[in-house]
Amino acid sequence: MIVWHDVIDPWLRERHPARGTVVFCLVGLLLLACLWGLQAYAQSRPDVLRLYVPEQLQRVQQSLVGVMLWLLVLAGLAWAWRDRNHRISRLMSYLCVTPVVWMLVVLWAGYGVLDTPMAMVTIASLVMARALFPLRVLMPGMVLGTLLVVADQAPTALGWRPIAPLLAAPVYSGEPMSWWWTVWLTVVLNVSVWPFIVGILYLFKSLAQRRAQLEHLASTDTLTGLFNRREFMGRLAQVSGPHEAGGQPLSLIMMDIDHFKRINDTFGHPAGDVVLERMGALLSAGVRPGDVAARLGGEEFAVLMPQTTLAEASAVARQLSESLRQINFVFDGQPVRLTMSVGVVEACGGRGEQALSAADDNLYRAKGAGRDQVVSSRL
Ligand code: GH3
Ligand code: MG
Ligand code: MG
Repeated sequence: MIVWHDVIDPWLRERHPARGTVVFCLVGLLLLACLWGLQAYAQSRPDVLRLYVPEQLQRVQQSLVGVMLWLLVLAGLAWAWRDRNHRISRLMSYLCVTPVVWMLVVLWAGYGVLDTPMAMVTIASLVMARALFPLRVLMPGMVLGTLLVVADQAPTALGWRPIAPLLAAPVYSGEPMSWWWTVWLTVVLNVSVWPFIVGILYLFKSLAQRRAQLEHLASTDTLTGLFNRREFMGRLAQVSGPHEAGGQPLSLIMMDIDHFKRINDTFGHPAGDVVLERMGALLSAGVRPGDVAARLGGEEFAVLMPQTTLAEASAVARQLSESLRQINFVFDGQPVRLTMSVGVVEACGGRGEQALSAADDNLYRAKGAGRDQVVSSRL
């Protein structure tokens, strides 16, 4: 599991074309070697060989060897360039996926489009390729393969062409099935179904992880780690919804650091950022788990406190103000103390939007009254 988490997963996630090519070539080689081995065994047994058209089987075996050698060369080149990301390594991803998909589709058509699990093998290889590369890399193989399968079906249905050109008689010919087909079906199904399941599960897992990462990014302010304005407004709308309008108290605190611009102007923007980060830590530590602390923008912060009375919220606001006042910032060797102005409002559930603008009014009243104070009111 450690190897998976620390080595393989980050490798796959990066979608690095050269590394993806190494993995795809090796998995493709294993799969094709397995099919080649089965067919080589069939060629060595006269009782099995009579199920095939020997010349066609010979041609397929030669093609398989050709594709496997090609994959070996590509895997070597891609390994040598595993840390580089240039046009040639992107080209290599096309050059490994397309022949493998094409070879599998040829086998699929050869054994009979409707008769064998070769369809499953082809789909498994596409899922594997999609887990490693962007969709466009699969396109040439998919288009060529689709054309071959479609072109194969009409003449086969009209009886102009045998159902399975590789075979002396189709696998399901009405006769009891040869023991060989049981072996063939078992091996081919297993080598395709398991990679397919692993590939699909991996794709779903990585999609879910990416989705969670994106959701986190979309709702968080990167500097402070608090929720951003968008998320705050969403949460406010949620608790203000009609189902919440049951007379429960809802309090809101809005805070704005006093004379923050002076920090930027005197000590530079990075010093201002340090203050904002400390404010983020202070809010995260100072609110209860059910509360929503956010940076609304600039040096303005807010806390949404469901089921909280004005007295409780004002006490939290005073505590937060005191905590900020106590921080001894040192910039360019100079001690700096900061204060903030705060507006607090209690509304009954269902009046979130009005509560926000009332808290804003209170905040500006606090600014007007000389800053460094808390102004509270009920809606
Ligand atoms: P007041 O007491 O009236 O609130 O004055 P103030 O200086 O705090 O308020 P003002 O609105 O004049 O200035 C806010 C400053 O916040 C201006 C802007 O450059 C700065 N600011 C906004 N976002 C960031 C940020 O992400 N990092 C830093 N360092 N500064 C920021
Ligand atoms: Mg300010
Ligand atoms: Mg401001």
